[in-house]
Amino acid sequence: MIKEISIGLGLAATIFLLIVGYDLTPLIFITGALGLVYYMLKSRGAGVKKFNSKPAQKISFSEIGGQSSVVNEMKEALEFICNHEKIKHLGIRPLKGVLLTGPPGTGKTLLAKAAASYTDAAFISCSGSEFIEMYAGVGAQRVRHLFNSVKERALKEKKTNAVIFIDEIDILGGKRGQNGSHHEYDQTLNQLLVEMDGLKIDDKIRVLVIAATNRVDMLDPALLRPGRFDRQVTVDLPDKEGRREILKLHTSNKPVSKEVSLEQVARETFGFSGAHLESLTNEAAILAMREKSNEVGYRHFHEAIDKVMMGDKLDRKPSKDELYRIAVHETGHALMSEYFRPGSVSTLTVTPRGKALGYMRQTPENDNFLYTCQYLESQIAVMLAGALSEDMILGNRSTGASNDFNQAVQTAEQIISSGMSELGVISIDIIPSKTRYRVVNEIIKRQEERVKNHLKQKEKVLSKIVSLLMEEERISGENFRLFIKEEVA
Ligand code: ATP
Repeated sequence: MIKEISIGLGLAATIFLLIVGYDLTPLIFITGALGLVYYMLKSRGAGVKKFNSKPAQKISFSEIGGQSSVVNEMKEALEFICNHEKIKHLGIRPLKGVLLTGPPGTGKTLLAKAAASYTDAAFISCSGSEFIEMYAGVGAQRVRHLFNSVKERALKEKKTNAVIFIDEIDILGGKRGQNGSHHEYDQTLNQLLVEMDGLKIDDKIRVLVIAATNRVDMLDPALLRPGRFDRQVTVDLPDKEGRREILKLHTSNKPVSKEVSLEQVARETFGFSGAHLESLTNEAAILAMREKSNEVGYRHFHEAIDKVMMGDKLDRKPSKDELYRIAVHETGHALMSEYFRPGSVSTLTVTPRGKALGYMRQTPENDNFLYTCQYLESQIAVMLAGALSEDMILGNRSTGASNDFNQAVQTAEQIISSGMSELGVISIDIIPSKTRYRVVNEIIKRQEERVKNHLKQKEKVLSKIVSLLMEEERISGENFRLFIKEEVA
């Protein structure tokens, strides 16, 4: 209110002075200078801005699925806080920091929150980017303020433990001296090191710093040395059993139809993080609501997997000719996939989503991390089958296959670098480019022949599936297999 009145009075005075013919140049200059000083002071003042003041949401380790070994490792580390008397008695150096590393969305923040609940600690969470400012000293001031705030909060909540969670610590804890003239980064990191060094077992409030990063290689070695982040815990993408557990946790509040096997959904979601799985269950429930269904069924889960994997459906409708080409292309992929691994086709669709105009989704057989040459060659064949199918039915190819070809070449290079090509064990970097081109080309040509032969034999069924796909826009793996079976019978 006072601000508005002052602005109003200022404007009125300026207009009055202009009317009486007063020269306003010096006044404008002085006001500008004062404004700049005010802005700078305000920005510096942001250095002591409050960290989130909401009490931390209580989360227990049992609400984190598929990370049992990580949870055990965390619990073991937290014994240092829980059993501090014993630690002190034995003269053990207290644990000051735990570093969680791993891909995004795997539950690192959840683990930090659960650690705070487990140790009955006051909790403050922040991100590395909150400490980076253009003014020297502000970041360091914020680090000091962070440690003071968490202790104040612990006192207020009558707790003796406090947990600070710093997400994306690589932003503030990157290797020193790498930011050129920007000493602000280095000062901020130095302050964090100073604060961590200052933590002692007989402090009134025992503080534990938990940090998370996806880029541990970027961190300054000083952060990782004993006495700072002495524990490094890797939080990886969940395996099939882990995905099933996470799905179970996130569907516990949803009416899931009895026909849905979470085991099967977990099988189809290889590579999904906990965050993806949470989003998948949420999307499935939204789809059920849109259909006014009382239960979340298989088709909702299937569509939600497509949405999380490929992105939203696009309004853009391809022309009829384009749609036909897309259907031919995707059916080619599906026929080859089913030939190599019966039961592998999960969905076949010509609905544009994200960057794809249509797609064929495969169900991985198992969570495999190692692949044989035979498997990689079959994957190359599946990738080539789209364009070769277009060739066979339409007499030419389109630009839609460029991504498939890139992947096919990358897979062929993987065969070479794993020592499974005719070149034997070799580093791909020292192969002359001519030889590399020849071997990649030969691998791809061999698969092209295989695909052409198979598609020729299946030309009739291919055309029928294309017509069905044009009509229905989407065919499930089960229907696709039924169709092939009927045609063969
Ligand atoms: P980032 O590195 O991007 O910050 P993060 O690893 O900290 O991600 P979280 O923020 O902990 O990931 O997870 C995001 C959401 O994903 C959680 O709120 C939760 O709903 C879900 N989630 C992730 N991992 C799990 C898990 N293991 N069990 C249950 N839910 C999970």
